[in-house]
Amino acid sequence: MNQYCFGIDIGGTAVKCGLFDVKGNLLDKWEIETRTENSGVHILPDIADEIQAKILEKRLNKEEIAGIGVGVPGPVNEEGIVLCAVNLHWGVTRLEDELKDLTGFPVKVGNDANLAALGELWKGGGTGYHNVVMVTLGTGVGGGIIINGRIVSGTNGAGGEIGHIRVADDIDGICNCGNKGCLEQVASATGIVKLANDLLKNTDKPSILRESEVSAKSVFDAVKAGDMLAIEVAEKFGRYLGSTLATIACVADPEIFVIGGGVSKAGTVLIDYIEKYYREYAFNSCRDSVFALAKLGNDAGVYGAAKLILL
Ligand code: ZN
Repeated sequence: MNQYCFGIDIGGTAVKCGLFDVKGNLLDKWEIETRTENSGVHILPDIADEIQAKILEKRLNKEEIAGIGVGVPGPVNEEGIVLCAVNLHWGVTRLEDELKDLTGFPVKVGNDANLAALGELWKGGGTGYHNVVMVTLGTGVGGGIIINGRIVSGTNGAGGEIGHIRVADDIDGICNCGNKGCLEQVASATGIVKLANDLLKNTDKPSILRESEVSAKSVFDAVKAGDMLAIEVAEKFGRYLGSTLATIACVADPEIFVIGGGVSKAGTVLIDYIEKYYREYAFNSCRDSVFALAKLGNDAGVYGAAKLILL
């Protein structure tokens, strides 16, 4: 009888909403503003209102709704308790109980990066696999680990926080998490820009990167154009990320690594540099893991949230 479910991805500025059928077809998607004032007390009632309105608009029967999956930007433990969500101004939140009380439907919650991994496994770059590690290369570095179709979130909800694996002793500056030497400091979009600017400063080698402000995109565009200095940056980036994924493989041993986030728009060239070092450093049993680009873009979170209800 259950034919539909909702996938909700709560971000700091917008809440993405999706109506799915249970086969995973996205039937409708829309966004609302995230109202974070007053410690974010409006966020869940706003979502409940949207869901009731959509059910009326589409003339659905309540019996046909399997439930609501929700992604949040913060750690979620295995009991489904949101431990905090700084961007939403939330402390410990029993989201599953609260949203169920507001809507009458079953609710499941997960961390947004973990749900992006689940979404990519279901309908994106990891389709057909059961064990995936996803890496999201954006302003920061996010991650999600799915083993046998289940999210590994851990005791503190920190499972899959790939961006905060320590990768080096000699990195300047402090990571957003307060530690030093995190993967995020060298493999995020901002990290890649920093690698490039450091290299540009320390040499007078010619490079098209000297002609305008450096971005992660301009670095990989220059790599594609054969720019030697940009290639040096890509090698450094690839060594950091490839060796870290080789370490992760010794713990999680996934079938596939899915690479997403804004930086992944560079395309397969990005994978080439990661894979090169992964193959060099990986333990022999997991050396042949597959690499793929993410396919769902900003929709990965709503897909994963919906899938959470169908697990
Ligand atoms: Zn960190």
